[in-house]
Amino acid sequence: MPHIFEKASSGRAKCRGCGRAIAKDELRFGERLPNPFAEGEMTLWFHPLCAAYKRPEAVLQALTETPEAAPEGAALEKAARASSAHRRLSRIDGAERAPSSQAKCRACKEKIEKGTWRIRLVYFEEGRFTPGGFIHIGCRDAHFEGHDALAPMLHFSPNLSDEDRSDLIQACEAAPA
Ligand SMILES: [Zn+2]
Ligand SMILES: [Zn+2]
Repeated sequence: MPHIFEKASSGRAKCRGCGRAIAKDELRFGERLPNPFAEGEMTLWFHPLCAAYKRPEAVLQALTETPEAAPEGAALEKAARASSAHRRLSRIDGAERAPSSQAKCRACKEKIEKGTWRIRLVYFEEGRFTPGGFIHIGCRDAHFEGHDALAPMLHFSPNLSDEDRSDLIQACEAAPA
């Protein structure tokens, strides 16, 4: 079955991309995948923009096949094209202040100091996202090879206060990509 955009028939499904509920009647995106554990296919549900960032190829395919199904198609296509420009961009799962100094940066292998900003990564395998570690804000240029990571970082950090968001943007400007 092809990927699908449709109105959510209930408010029970959670978005695979951000973990938040998809409201009833809100537009959702369903990615169809072969089920790795059984015969047949499975559908992963997303907010359309969450899918554009994390599963850009599937969204681009759906926009090509059924352009009329997504009213915000242009914005989705823009996000999906940006995210598909480098394979690592779709692993961005948000940004946060390190709660301890235990994690090491996957790019430079150095410790990430407590209280400093770090980018959260996830890997997509066998139909699910699994935690993939962190990188320093200042290592994003090396890790994403110069591609802009800020939009998905902000998108997948919905719980940040306005103050934290501007602080994060400042931290990015202080450590330019
Ligand atoms: Zn979402
Ligand atoms: Zn680093």
